Amino acid sequence: MKLSFYGAAGEVTGSCNMFTVEGKKFLVDCGMFQGAQFNEEKNREPFPFNPAELSGVIVTHAHLDHVGRLPLLVKNGYEGSFFATPPTAELTELLLQDALHIMLYNHSHGGAPVLYDSTDIAKVMERFKTVDYKEKTKLSPEVFFTLHDVGHIFGSAFVEVEAGGKKIVFSGDVGNANVPILKDTESLPKDIDALVCESTYGNRLHETVTKRSEILLELISKAIARGGTLMVPSFSFERTQELIYELNNLVDRKKLLPRVPIFLDSPLAIKATRVYLKYPEYYDREAEVLRKSGDDLFDFPGLVITETPEESKKINHTPGPKIVVAGSGMMNGGRILHHALRYLSDEKSTLLIIGFQAEGTLGRKILDGQTPVDVMGEKVRVNCQVKSIGALSAHADQEKLLSWIGKAKPKKVLLNHGEKSVSEILAKKLKDDFDIDAAPADFGTEIEI
Ligand SMILES: [Zn+2]
Repeated sequence: MKLSFYGAAGEVTGSCNMFTVEGKKFLVDCGMFQGAQFNEEKNREPFPFNPAELSGVIVTHAHLDHVGRLPLLVKNGYEGSFFATPPTAELTELLLQDALHIMLYNHSHGGAPVLYDSTDIAKVMERFKTVDYKEKTKLSPEVFFTLHDVGHIFGSAFVEVEAGGKKIVFSGDVGNANVPILKDTESLPKDIDALVCESTYGNRLHETVTKRSEILLELISKAIARGGTLMVPSFSFERTQELIYELNNLVDRKKLLPRVPIFLDSPLAIKATRVYLKYPEYYDREAEVLRKSGDDLFDFPGLVITETPEESKKINHTPGPKIVVAGSGMMNGGRILHHALRYLSDEKSTLLIIGFQAEGTLGRKILDGQTPVDVMGEKVRVNCQVKSIGALSAHADQEKLLSWIGKAKPKKVLLNHGEKSVSEILAKKLKDDFDIDAAPADFGTEIEI
């Protein structure tokens, strides 16, 4: 078996892993490169392989940096199937349509190219074959794969591939510990010949997760006391639903927060929430108990859902204090930009960052202390409070990655989906602590397993 990487090697976005068995090529994920531009130039470069020659594509989860180039595979001749869990398939369709919408908007406001059209998306969706966790599935007479719950976002999986007596595991993105709604990350299988593992936070420790609600409560209480707008740029899948779930806890169930207007200003998040409601069998025990007791997990008094642009514009007329949760999560597009334009310069307002911010994105620039910043072509001073909270991250921190990998002791670990320096730190830790042969993944290099 051979392994090679055509994205997320030395960087966090653009996941695209290939494995080859007796000349047959398979992909795990094919995501978009993301940075300052929504549609980075690298997405428009031809694939370094011929998509028509692929024999199968497995999708770990519905995040744009893992699925954003799937329509390009079809557009460039791929005729096979896409394998994923049922929620991943449904969320992928929402995500691709939203990406197309953003690309068309950017195209009409400055001429940025559009990668694919709705026909390409429809072709991807027609070819999805859904597979549940733990269902061993045949890709070819000699290649099998099994999906396992990785606890990163709803429906997310790590992939165990077995072929010719070898076992490779692709982690996809590994979930944080004790995430609301989601089940815990399953343990890795034994006897792994090679583990391809993400390393987004391979150098960092998150705040203790048991303190998640307390930290959030303190941050939000202070922001409300300032009387301004609390902006939360949020990824439409998972972070938003978790945040709404936590806010529901703080406002309604525990009554620890004053009832201020909370706007969920993301049409995509609203649609994604409907997918969550459709698959309760994917909930963890706590969420399932609440659901069975009649609790509406993602809705509570004070929550205002603004689906149309007109409804969204009305947020401006609501006096503070108020909370606005809007995409995109890294502030490189979406409705959050309209709020940023209005409130970044407001000393009474707060920007709360709850997810990873890739290099070059507006969110990263603000987090790094840059001011003024460019928002939709305008220079805006950052006078508001800027806060970040790692406990709400979708990704495992260094401690969780080390214990997850260390328990399984794979023969080899290749670290992708991390900035190079971060992957190197995690590789060294794996060598020092567990004597595991670990190294960052390199773009394009073929490795024999
Ligand atoms: Zn992800």
